[in-house]
Amino acid sequence: MNTNNNILQNEDDFKKNLTSEQYQVLRQKGTEAPFSGKLIHPDKDGFYRCAACGNALFSASAKFESGTGWPSFDDALPGAVKNIEDNSHDMSRVETVCAKCNSHLGHLFEDGPTKTGKRYCMNSVCFEDFEDSN
Ligand SMILES: [Zn+2]
Repeated sequence: MNTNNNILQNEDDFKKNLTSEQYQVLRQKGTEAPFSGKLIHPDKDGFYRCAACGNALFSASAKFESGTGWPSFDDALPGAVKNIEDNSHDMSRVETVCAKCNSHLGHLFEDGPTKTGKRYCMNSVCFEDFEDSN
């Protein structure tokens, strides 16, 4: 797991530092099956971080239970992610990527239940797992 602040540039580095499932989602824009994700935990400061580069993406306080089977957040940390128009699969969606390493994280929907109105529907494999690290 990469925890330093260097920007990873090279696909070989991503491959080396990520599991094959993480690589498929983060770098090849895959989607994990709903309800397949393991429990994810925020780090000690309460942030969910990019599994590819360690960038803090979401605050634990923004997480809510959406019932979709994917971890969902009603807002991202300022400047942490980029939202890009995604017209793949004949759908008009907004793709969310890490602002630091451009890795795919999931999609942003405008039907969130909280006052932000946003629902960041993320893949759990895109987050570092702090339960297993020290
Ligand atoms: Zn990243």
